[in-house]
Amino acid sequence: MAESIEVTGMVLASGPIGEYDKRVVLLTKELGKISAFARGARKPGNALMAACESFAFGTFMIYPGKNSYTVEKASIKNYFRELAGDLEGACYGYYFLEFADYFARENEDGGSMLNLLYSSFKAILDGRIPNKLVRVVYELKQLVINGEYPEFFCCTACGSTEGLCGFSISSNGALCHSCTGGRRAVTLSPAALYTLQFIVATPIAGLYSFTVKPEVLSELIEVMHMCVDNYVDKRMKSLDMLELVDK
Ligand SMILES: [Zn+2]
Repeated sequence: MAESIEVTGMVLASGPIGEYDKRVVLLTKELGKISAFARGARKPGNALMAACESFAFGTFMIYPGKNSYTVEKASIKNYFRELAGDLEGACYGYYFLEFADYFARENEDGGSMLNLLYSSFKAILDGRIPNKLVRVVYELKQLVINGEYPEFFCCTACGSTEGLCGFSISSNGALCHSCTGGRRAVTLSPAALYTLQFIVATPIAGLYSFTVKPEVLSELIEVMHMCVDNYVDKRMKSLDMLELVDK
């Protein structure tokens, strides 16, 4: 007989199933993204009710079944209720969850992604860094964790690490002064380039430690907009609402 497993994870999404039950998508450190059935999670007073809401982070006892896991119990460390209770925060939160759901896979280590989600939610709640910058950092670091991201440390045309001043999505990264001519590239200021390099190279724990001038943030947003278009072949549903509140 299979035994229950304890995993550390976060609820990425949940939906009703049957009369009283729920199906949840969990991002776990140990098993990557998994789908699980939560019996009775929609019954008022059921212990799993709050634990199976999006954003809930903690440990879950799950039991492997034929097609899906079943959540037996959960011990939630952070529900991120302040995030879900604030319109702008919730819009960012749901977008981050959907982004993670897109990239996460079953049977892969989900630790880094989980850590990034947790830190990013903390950064949104903390409010010291503009939400738009948190989004830029989050999107780029997700691409880095997933292993496919642009080159920001050298010119993608000639390999030079000097005079980097442009970004081209068709070249998949930075371009130096002499290679920008004739290519469709956006100009990158030294501050924007340094910030992109910093996000790629810095461990998650140190990511939300800086802020940038508004004009640099605009450059970063433009670059990440192109990157997400290029690396994500799906329009996130949560983006419609986020773009509406984020004017
Ligand atoms: Zn070059």
